[in-house]
Amino acid sequence: MAGVVRELACHCGEIRLSCDAPLTSVIECNCSTCGRTGILHWKVPAASLSLTSQRIGLSTYAWRGLHEGQHFCRICGTAMMRTGYPGDRVSLNARCIVGIDVFDLETIRYDGRNKMPPGPTL
Ligand SMILES: [Zn+2]
Repeated sequence: MAGVVRELACHCGEIRLSCDAPLTSVIECNCSTCGRTGILHWKVPAASLSLTSQRIGLSTYAWRGLHEGQHFCRICGTAMMRTGYPGDRVSLNARCIVGIDVFDLETIRYDGRNKMPPGPTL
């Protein structure tokens, strides 16, 4: 059953997504990439996500495997989502949800700096 549809957008509006997965809590991580980009993870099933703008506007930074990476707007640089998780899940950047204050979300800290399993290399 589909839930509330939430819209996500980058800063300049070039990239837009929608997602109908439940939003209960988000994850803040201190690993080498999340610590720099500030992505606030909202992990959702890939099937709950729709790209409502053109895919061509997305750029990808891949640093471990060819099929995983961080996807960001090529114009404004906003990190929109991360792929490469098991179970066909993707992580959306909750900071991009339109019309919410991220301070209102329950945030769980994950010590990715020390607990992140090593991934494959390119
Ligand atoms: Zn943008």
